[in-house]
Amino acid sequence: MALYPKLIIDALTHVRYPGTGKDIVSSEMVEDNIRIDGNKVSFSLIFEKENDPFARSLVKACETAILTYVGKEVEIAGNITCKYKTAIPKKDPDNPLPGVKNIIAVSSGKGGVGKSTVSANLAVSLAKMGYKVGLLDADIFGPSMPKMFGLEDARPILEEKNEQGRELIRPEERYGVKLLSIGFFVNPNDAVLWRGGMASNALKQLITDANWGELDYFVLDLPPGTSDIHLTLVQTLALTGAIVVSTPQEVALADAKKGISMFVGEKVNVPIIGLVENMAWFTPAELPNNKYYIFGKEGCKKLAEDMNVELLGQIPIVQSICECGDNGAPAALKDDTITSQAFMDLASRVVAKVDEINASGIKTKRVITHK
Ligand code: ADP
Repeated sequence: MALYPKLIIDALTHVRYPGTGKDIVSSEMVEDNIRIDGNKVSFSLIFEKENDPFARSLVKACETAILTYVGKEVEIAGNITCKYKTAIPKKDPDNPLPGVKNIIAVSSGKGGVGKSTVSANLAVSLAKMGYKVGLLDADIFGPSMPKMFGLEDARPILEEKNEQGRELIRPEERYGVKLLSIGFFVNPNDAVLWRGGMASNALKQLITDANWGELDYFVLDLPPGTSDIHLTLVQTLALTGAIVVSTPQEVALADAKKGISMFVGEKVNVPIIGLVENMAWFTPAELPNNKYYIFGKEGCKKLAEDMNVELLGQIPIVQSICECGDNGAPAALKDDTITSQAFMDLASRVVAKVDEINASGIKTKRVITHK
């Protein structure tokens, strides 16, 4: 059985803190750092004061709830630590995104291959798995996230000054995903007129001057191709890795190859999480088991082998993917459809690969340009 944080959180809602009689999840006593490594699960419980008399019995109750509600094969004994609010360290003021664990760039060689569709559905699937997720629509030439999330009229507000005296933009929140898009701030028809520096500065602001808070995964939907904007983002943030989306069509594959080469090149030097083949085949709704290879068969699989990167998933052409995007509710939101399962599988592969990258210790150089 694949384990993910939401399964653990759901089990922990059955545990009550004897001091208040309330469950420990809604009482925010479970820290947002549930770590899963195969069958091994570890996390921390947060107590108000040191030497809480209920700490040991609560750890036991958590172990029992997980073995009961998730499964006996979970390795949990000895893996729950106790933290005390009085001892939690303060954040590093120089890091623009101190609470963000993993930053994933989603890019494509050319436009129209479904990069934004994959970004939106990946973000929603990660949120469904119980992770804290942010999504930045950095596709300056065609910001589509406001429409895909049904937030065309949203106008994010500025929050009151934080401890450093800065006012921060508050990301919109929908389907468990925190979202900012350049499309919230400009007329979509004007965005195409933006050029180099202006676009890069606007994006930098959406990253460093927004209150993204604590995130497990921050997904960046990049503009297609290779541009200065890609360079700026890499210089502003320590990216964990990049995902490249392509269709199996020859012309798309040639550009995807350029995209992969840009990321692994010396100037950018970002690990590749993997390739996603979108529009891999067409499956009519009434014939869910039929596959028609409209753009060619397994082009991305071959490219992944040639470039020595992982093929993270193959997403078919399904009418509902397009309709859901247009209707403001990404297809991954539904439960148990073939499409939502394909995006959940993709998200699981991304999580596994990101863990692998983190364990290998590869880190993108960060040049902090934050004021
Ligand atoms: P990009 O971000 O690469 O420009 P989009 O994600 O905006 O591409 O997708 C382009 C169009 O194709 C959109 O109308 C989208 O709804 C549609 N689309 C993308 N992927 C699929 C798919 N797998 N099945 C059906 N329609 C799709």
